[in-house]
Order: sequence, then structure tokens, then C-alpha cells
Amino acid sequence: MQAVILSIGDELALGQTVDTNTAYLAAKLAELGIWTRYHETIADDQDLIARALVRAGGEAELMLVTGGLGPTKDDLTRQALAQAMEVDLEEDAEGLKAIEAFFAGRGKTITEANRVQALLPVGAKGIPNAKGTAPGIRATLGKAMVFVMPGVPFEMKAMYADSVLPAIKEKAGGGRTILTTKINTFGLGESSVGQILDDLMDRKRNPTVGTTVGSGVVSVRIRSEFADPAEAKTKLDETVEQVKQRLGAIVFGRDEDTVASALLEDMRKRKLKIATAESCTGGLIGKMLTDIAGSSDVYIGGWVTYTNEMKQSQLGVPGEVLEQHGAVSGQTVCAMAAGALERSGVDIALSVSGVAGPGGGTEEKPVGTVWLGLASRVHADEPTVQAIMVKFPGGRPQVRERSAMCALQMARLHLAQEPLTGISWINRTYPGE
Ligand code: AMP
Ligand code: MG
Repeated sequence: MQAVILSIGDELALGQTVDTNTAYLAAKLAELGIWTRYHETIADDQDLIARALVRAGGEAELMLVTGGLGPTKDDLTRQALAQAMEVDLEEDAEGLKAIEAFFAGRGKTITEANRVQALLPVGAKGIPNAKGTAPGIRATLGKAMVFVMPGVPFEMKAMYADSVLPAIKEKAGGGRTILTTKINTFGLGESSVGQILDDLMDRKRNPTVGTTVGSGVVSVRIRSEFADPAEAKTKLDETVEQVKQRLGAIVFGRDEDTVASALLEDMRKRKLKIATAESCTGGLIGKMLTDIAGSSDVYIGGWVTYTNEMKQSQLGVPGEVLEQHGAVSGQTVCAMAAGALERSGVDIALSVSGVAGPGGGTEEKPVGTVWLGLASRVHADEPTVQAIMVKFPGGRPQVRERSAMCALQMARLHLAQEPLTGISWINRTYPGE
């Protein structure tokens, strides 16, 4: 079975809202072994929508449509569907009851505008909406089973799971199982990862292996397609193992894992605590850690010490160190991390000080130069300190984001006793070299 996905709305066509529904649905269909042939985004124009529906009905056996079911004048999907099916709209008594009940549940009565939402093309059926007023529509057009769902993502997802998935599941049978996963890495550029994976990335291979990059994270995407679900799973797992083995310590997780979530998980298992001392990242490391619910088991908090005075008074960085080596130096970040470790009593403290730009760069320390420090009592009785200097490309937001992620990855590698040289952006280390 093949599918077409249509998303409807002026805001999507104009780029004011990013169409996340299509990506979500295409991935869900892939899980069932259903290929999406194409997708299309259409403005709120009845004729345009009707033509897109007719065309899709000739191309695929399944059509998923989202958006344009609202109560306002610009919501024209149900009218367009009736036009494409060459039938009239009629009021659906059951649908009307459900909308009335939705309003009654909120102590209100149905508005005239919302009555429109109970209209269905003759021959079509309503789909209950557990999360909102607009019922969905199930119909047939050309060779396609059609499912129209609301545009609001959480309503759409609920309707897909409750009503659409059960209806297409058996029909999808006889198809192939497609399983996908992502292995996330931080430390090497995309081309280096590509070189290491080389033969695994052969286009004719199954499972296929490809890379994507975002915010310094290189993700290896694996897609396994077989008739037998068990074989799809075994082959996927085999390739996952091969990829992990080749890439080693720079792999921090799968699918939705972030460097921060991976570090928290590693530290939680070992019952360790972490604190931060940040300068140029202004609290970004703390933000990344606290983005994850339940991080307080591991992350106790930290300092944002932007000026030299704050580095001295809050973290005990000696004035001579700042004078002699500058705020952006291995010596300073080591003193920051050591101060944070001592004053907070944690197991690991991370520190960062750098030139995020756009101003402030010098010949010796150009924009993008960042020192990251780590103080630890994890592997030794006496606290140890070390620092790395990294150089990142990009503007201020990119430099700050990568610095924060790099500090988190540095902590992960330290915990695993892996060499930090796995991070390709390293320029210098302190102490030593
Ligand atoms: P509608 O069902 O067309 O009234 O859409 C209601 C709201 O859902 C819109 O204002 C958008 O914010 C959102 N929305 C609609 N379609 C999509 C989509 N394809 N992806 C993400 N959000 C959407
Ligand atoms: Mg709309």
C-alpha cells in the first residue's frame, strides 16, 4: 500500500507554521511498511484543495489529510472533499451530538460556527475527536481510503492512534516492515563519520545507513526493510552494533537522547553529582541539564560568573591567574572548575570560558576559542583538573551551543575513562602538551 499526505493551511503554505504533522505521519506509516509517495502543502483555497485531493486519489491507496477542519471561514477541507467527491454536505447527527457534548463539558452551548463541523460529504463517515471539537472524516476517493484529521498536532496524534491506525493496520499487512533508528554522536564532523562508516553507507545495502548533522551532533540513521518483522529487527540490531563499534566513545545515545540526557543517565547509574561554573555560555550547560525532567538527582546547580570579579569572589579563581593568563585560558577554567568542585562538594564540576564573539577576538584567541575545564574526584581520591581548548566555527549562538555540548561530552568521556582526543575540535590541552 502506498500513501499520499496532504497538509492544509495558509500558515503552512506561507511558512509561518512548520508542517510537523506530515513528518510525524510519514514516520508512523513507515513503521507499518507503508511508503509515502509524496506530500503536498496546500493553502486554504477550496478549488486547490479539491484538485489536490482528486490527484492523490488517483496516485495512492491511502490518503492522510490534516488541517482545515476548524469552524472558521478559512477552514475549507470538508467543502473541498465534498467537491472532489462530487457530492453535497449533510449534517451528521452523531457528529453534532459529540460537538454539543464537548461544549456542554465546558459549561457552554454550541456556536453557529461550530455546527459547520458536523457537516460531512454524503457517503463519508465522521471520526470521533477525543481532544477537540472538529470530528475527522473518513471517505473514499478514487482508489484511496481517505482520512481527514484536525491540524492541531495533539488532536491529530490522538485521532491517528485511536481511529486511523486501527483502520489501516490490517490493510497494511502483506507489506514490508520498516524499522528505523538513529545513533547520535558528538565529537567528529560528518565527513569523518562518513569515512569511518564507509562500506556500511553503500546505497544498495539493507539496512541502509546515512548521516545527518545538527548543532554539532552527527546522527547515523539506520533503516531496515524486510518482509519478516523479526528479520528486520535482527538486521537493524546487527547494524546498530557495527556502527557503535566503529564510532566508539563519541556515540552518546539513540533516537531522542541528547548529550545532556546521556550524561545524566551515566551519572545517575553511578550515583554521582555534577555542578557547573559558566562564563561565555551564561548558564546554557545548566539549561541543557535541567531541560531533562528529574535532573535534580544529578545536577545540583552552578554559577554564572561572567566578570573576572565574579570568577574571583564566587569561585576563588586567583587574581594572578586571571592577570597572567587571561579569563580565556586553561589555568582559569581549571581554577573555576576546582573552585566549583570544592565549594559544592560534587563529584564532577564543569567550567567554560571563551570568546563567543562577534567581538572580543584576538590573533591569539580568535572568536570561537573556548576553554573547557573539568574537576573530578571520580577516579582518584584527590581532585584532578584538566582543560581542553576547542575552536568552533559559526556565530555566537553556535559557539555557545557547541561549547556547552562539548563540556557535557567531555564529562561523559571522563566518566568512561576514554581519551578526550575523540573530540576533533580540540586544539590544546592543559596541563600538558
Ligand atoms: P486547522 O485544523 O487548519 O484549523 O489548524 C489549527 C492549527 O493547527 C493551526 O493554526 C496550526 O497552528 C496547527 N497546524 C495545522 N496544521 C499543521 C501541521 N501540518 N503541522 C503543524 N501544525 C499544524
Ligand atoms: Mg487552518
